[in-house]
Amino acid sequence: MAQTQAISIPTPITVIDQYCRQEADTAALAKHLAACFGRFLTSQSGSHLNISLEGDLGAGKTTFARYLIQAMGHEGKVKSPTYTLCEPYPLQLKDQAIIVYHFDLYRMRDPLEWQEAGFAEHFDVPGICLIEWPEKAEGTLPRFDIRIQLSAGSDENERAIKTSGLTEPGKTALKEILST
Ligand code: ADP
Ligand code: MG
Repeated sequence: MAQTQAISIPTPITVIDQYCRQEADTAALAKHLAACFGRFLTSQSGSHLNISLEGDLGAGKTTFARYLIQAMGHEGKVKSPTYTLCEPYPLQLKDQAIIVYHFDLYRMRDPLEWQEAGFAEHFDVPGICLIEWPEKAEGTLPRFDIRIQLSAGSDENERAIKTSGLTEPGKTALKEILST
């Protein structure tokens, strides 16, 4: 009897280019993405998304992270993890407990300081790692599923935000936004 073989066809790279004229547009994009990530994490129980936040100082990485974490259900403040390197946000998505870890690696003196601080296990927990200044880790971090690049425009409040899916889970999570 002939055997059927499953052929896996990789999804093309998913890229979302968003022009934000003002901060409210950044908030709206973060809210949209929060809904996509929430749907992905609840549909694939126990899964994790590793997300980089890239851009110059003042580009809006922390601002974006704040809107995203609040849109995912966190009700308190989201403080910048500049001094602590990492802040955890335990959240409840429907019947699933997840943790969003918000990192800011700007002040690391050594690329492996994140490992010495015991942060490696955060990458196995169901939820999200959101990482500002991943370049400070010089390629020692686990692979990113999604890359979010922010850049300033000519006006003070203008930003361009490019979101790319880099792995199959990342692309799957982002596909939701393209279909909504
Ligand atoms: P980073 O973390 O990249 O260094 P921050 O988020 O700390 O940057 O700072 C960005 C600043 O720019 C904040 O004061 C924010 O209010 C302001 N801002 C103005 N317009 C926007 C926008 N469209 N998107 C994000 N932040 C904006
Ligand atoms: Mg910041």
